[in-house]
Amino acid sequence: MILHSPKVSYFGVYFEHYIHLREKRIMRILIIEDEKAIGNRINSTLTEHGYSSVLANKGREGLELAMIDSFDCIILDLRLPDMNGLDICKELRLKSIDTAVIILTALAEIEQIVDGLNAGADDYITKPFSSEELLARIYAVIRRKTFQQKGSIELSGVELNPIKRKVKVDGNSVLLSNREFLILQYLMHRGGEALTRTQIFEHVWEESLDLESNIVDVYINYVRKKIDTDGNKPSHIETVRGYGYRFSDNI
Ligand code: CA
Repeated sequence: MILHSPKVSYFGVYFEHYIHLREKRIMRILIIEDEKAIGNRINSTLTEHGYSSVLANKGREGLELAMIDSFDCIILDLRLPDMNGLDICKELRLKSIDTAVIILTALAEIEQIVDGLNAGADDYITKPFSSEELLARIYAVIRRKTFQQKGSIELSGVELNPIKRKVKVDGNSVLLSNREFLILQYLMHRGGEALTRTQIFEHVWEESLDLESNIVDVYINYVRKKIDTDGNKPSHIETVRGYGYRFSDNI
């Protein structure tokens, strides 16, 4: 297949991201969708952005492909002519196939979403959806899976191992307190995504943030002092003005 050159746009970011994910290997995506127009649209969006994708119009066909071949992500429609998407997802998990699954559904009802996640899906998108959203979700679930499988995450020279609870910057160990570690882990896990102070606080402290508190900013500065070892480079943790922080995965 032809690999498109990165575009200087929003999409360029995703191109960089997936290149970074797994040593420049092309990500493979399986699309299980019976509506031809939607299936073809997803297929061309993915191809355009450097993914390799396979489209199955039937549930059974998709399930078989998912079992015999290896994919980085499966985009799964719920209403298929021969099978329910939820059953496909359950079947895959029963067979210990842990490929990331994104449910694609017109059924925005909360029960459907909960059922999908209970069936072992990693995320969901409701129709209609934008290509940007689809690409962002795919990138996020693949990154999460890679993180879970490898046990450690490496972004922009920072390596964090949650099992050993160790952090290295450019190969050198850095000592972090428990809170600092949790903040860094959360930011890296969601690398490239802007997170609010409230999100960070609630994740790390597991309680509600007093809006007057600047504790998150204080801790972010502690982490920065420890991981920003090269003074000539911008901080690994970018301030998103009026919003919060983001772990910059492209410095
Ligand atoms: Ca359908």
